[in-house]
Amino acid sequence: MLARDLIDYIGRSPTPFHAVENACALLKTADYTEQNLEDTPRQSGQYYVRRNGSSLIAVSLNAPLEQGFSLIGAHTDSPCLKLKPDAAYNKLGYLQLGVEVYGGALLSPWFDRDLSIAGRLTVTDKNGKLINRLIDFRRPLGSIPSLAIHLNREVNEKNEINKQNHLPPVLDILDEETDLHTLLLKQLAEQYPQDAVENILAFELSLYDTQAPAIIGVQKNLIASSRLDNLLSSYIGLRAMLAHRQPGNCVLVLSDHEEVGSATAAGAAGPFLETVLRQVCGDELTYRKALDKSLLISVDNAHAVHPNYADRHEPRHQPRINAGPVIKINHNQRYATNSETQAFFAQLCKKQGVPCQQFVVRSDMGCGSTIGPITATELGIRTVDIGSPQLAMHSIRELAGVADCTYLLKALTAFYDAPGLQID
Ligand code: ZN
Repeated sequence: MLARDLIDYIGRSPTPFHAVENACALLKTADYTEQNLEDTPRQSGQYYVRRNGSSLIAVSLNAPLEQGFSLIGAHTDSPCLKLKPDAAYNKLGYLQLGVEVYGGALLSPWFDRDLSIAGRLTVTDKNGKLINRLIDFRRPLGSIPSLAIHLNREVNEKNEINKQNHLPPVLDILDEETDLHTLLLKQLAEQYPQDAVENILAFELSLYDTQAPAIIGVQKNLIASSRLDNLLSSYIGLRAMLAHRQPGNCVLVLSDHEEVGSATAAGAAGPFLETVLRQVCGDELTYRKALDKSLLISVDNAHAVHPNYADRHEPRHQPRINAGPVIKINHNQRYATNSETQAFFAQLCKKQGVPCQQFVVRSDMGCGSTIGPITATELGIRTVDIGSPQLAMHSIRELAGVADCTYLLKALTAFYDAPGLQID
């Protein structure tokens, strides 16, 4: 079952590094091979390239490049709490960690959760060589305890969270045995027994909720999980890549750093995608011709209408969960959808018997954005912004729909199998 596969993937992917690692493993089983950017470009076949270990581009090329590329884009990162470099400290008998808020996290749901730690360590081996290692403790290591209501009687009316003072988790009661460095070295030795790690020089570590993703609801129609925004889209995009059968030039772009604006070496505003596409095309003319015929479906979850806050949504554009992918439109170009690409996607869904919906934000509220407009601006590719509807976006526990996964996979697979955008 697709939703089960999805929650399994999310459960094993607490950070973008793990999300990319697990995506690569899946691609490998389908005979995709890893290429380096400096390798001789290949104009056919199926392969993938990584950048920073947290962004990934997979290509499946088996049509003339002049036909253009069918691109699907999503992002691998989610708002979370990341450890500061000198993270561990002792306070009043507790071992605590300094954390930085990554992206636009909804903070209150992070309290009173059984939190673990995962991410990337850059270490030296016994020859002094720098190597990267992914770690995931998988077990609860601490919690951010709420202040008791007796000590803050107004908390239910106004809950102000100070990001510096109120978010450091409590890892344990302090004793001589517990310090962060030893904890990390122990975990490394457990996960990589063959390594002889001498020193941990730096890390990018995040806190995450150890509560496993679940399929919930009376009729089991809902998915409750961290990181549905946007591992749902990343995973379904990946499955579409593996499912398509017709010859075409299919590209899957999974980018890190969307939640902090994408302007990084590995992010959608960086040169990664352009470099790969130029390398595939070889010469400038082929590249220009191919881009002119290309279309990007930028997939990022959309806001479903919230029954308790329906007035926050535009009255005539209120996406429902399990009612199909949502096309996002914003005339101020926070989304890159235009009438051509909107019509293309609506028709694609219709042909597959997939319902689809539309989203615009209320005129008196600001609009979010995503990788669609960024990629469109960088490369000039026609783009449609879409996504599965969800509630509680950027919470540590989000809510999406089981049927929406199937709808999205059907639409995205049909896109890879379709001959592309043809409008006169
Ligand atoms: Zn997102």
